[in-house]
Amino acid sequence: MSESWNKRTKLVHGGTRRSQYNEVSEAVFLTQGFVYDTAEQAEARFEKAGQDEFIYARYGNPTMAMFEDRISDYLGYEDGFACASGMAAVNGALMALLKAGDHVVASRALFGSCLYILEDILTRFGVNVTLVDGTDNAAWAQSITAKTDLVFLESISNPTLEVIDLKHVCDLAHEVGAIVVVDDAMATPVYSYAKACGADISVVSTTKHVDGQGRMLGGIICGPKDLIRGPVETYIKHTGGAMNPFTAWTHLKALETMELRVRAQAAAALDVAEALSGHDKLNVVRYPTHKAHPQQELALSQAPAGGTVLTIEVKGGKEACFRFLNALQVITISNNFADAKSIATHPATTTHQRLPQEQKDTLGISPGLVRLSIGLEDPSDLIADLLQALDQA
Ligand SMILES: *Cc1c(COP(=O)(O)O)cnc(C)c1O
Repeated sequence: MSESWNKRTKLVHGGTRRSQYNEVSEAVFLTQGFVYDTAEQAEARFEKAGQDEFIYARYGNPTMAMFEDRISDYLGYEDGFACASGMAAVNGALMALLKAGDHVVASRALFGSCLYILEDILTRFGVNVTLVDGTDNAAWAQSITAKTDLVFLESISNPTLEVIDLKHVCDLAHEVGAIVVVDDAMATPVYSYAKACGADISVVSTTKHVDGQGRMLGGIICGPKDLIRGPVETYIKHTGGAMNPFTAWTHLKALETMELRVRAQAAAALDVAEALSGHDKLNVVRYPTHKAHPQQELALSQAPAGGTVLTIEVKGGKEACFRFLNALQVITISNNFADAKSIATHPATTTHQRLPQEQKDTLGISPGLVRLSIGLEDPSDLIADLLQALDQA
C-alpha cells in the first residue's frame, strides 16, 4: 500500500512502527540496548540481525529506523542510515566507500567542512583528489577518467549557489563505473533531483530543512540497500556516528510539515530575489531559479524551485555590508540556514573565514557577499526589513 502513496502522504505515515500500545504519534525509544528472551536469541541476533531486530543504539533503534525509512523512501532511495550530523554523514559516506589509492573528482565550490575532509583527511590516507569548477561540463569530462572511483559534489553550492548539471556528471561517472555522492543540503529534500539524475548516494544535512526550526543536528546517507546496509552501516556503527533517537523523533515530527514549510520558504525566497533585483546598493542578487541567475535555465530544468537561500552582494565592501547587516531588525545574524526564522550570514568573516584569500576569490566569497536564508515570516516584512537596512548601507 505505502508504495502507491504520494510523496506528501509518505512524509506523514512512511516507515511507521507501532508498539504494543498502538500510539498515534511515533514513540521515541530512548534506550541504549534491547533485551533478549534467551541466550540463544542474543547469539542469533549478533550473528545476523533481521529487519526490526535491534542490538544497540549505535547500530540502530526503532525511532531511527522509522526516520530512515520515511526520508529515504521520500527521496526515492532504497534505504538510509541516519547520522549525528550532516558532517557525520558526509564523512561516513566517503570513509566507508574509499580506500588508499582511489581517485575522487569533486567540485571546488564546497561547504568548508566538506572541503576539509577531501583536502586534508582523505589525502592523508592516500586518496587522490581532483577539484574542478563544478559549473564547467568540459572540466568534469576531462577529470573523470577510467581511474576515477567516486565523484562528490553539492548539487547547489553553499554559499555561492552554483548549479551543477547533475545528469551530465552522473552519466560521465557511470561510464567509468564511479559512484556519485551528492551533498544535497541546499537543494532541499522537497526539490531534490539527486535520484532523478542518477546519483547513487544522496547525503543530506537534516539540520537544515528536515528540522527546519533551528533545534537539532542530524544527517542521512541515502542509497541502494547493498551500500547502506553494507559498507556504510558497518563503518558508522563501529565509529559512533549514528543519530540520537530523540533527534530521530523530532525529525519524524518535522517531516510531517516539511513540504508546507519548504514550499512557502522557497516561494518567499524568489519573491525577495525579485524585490531586491536591480537595487542600486547591490552588485548581485542570486537565486537559482530567478532570471538574474546565470544558470537559471539549467536550474529550472532540474527543479521547479532553487531552495530557500539567496545571496546578495552589497556595494562598498565589508564596511557597507556590516552597516546593512547591523541595521536588520526582523532578519537575524547567524550562520545556519533553512530555519523558520530568516537568517543573514556573512560567509567571508564567519563560515568561510578560514579559507585563504585566494580561495575566497576563486569561489566568489567577496567582502560584500551575504547569504540570506528565508524563513516563514510574511515575505512583505522581510522585504521591508531588507530595503530599510540597505538604506543604511
Ligand atoms: C550544513 C551543511 C553541511 C553540514 O551539516 P551539519 O548538519 O551542520 O553537520 C554539509 N554540507 C552542506 C552543503 C551544508 O550546507
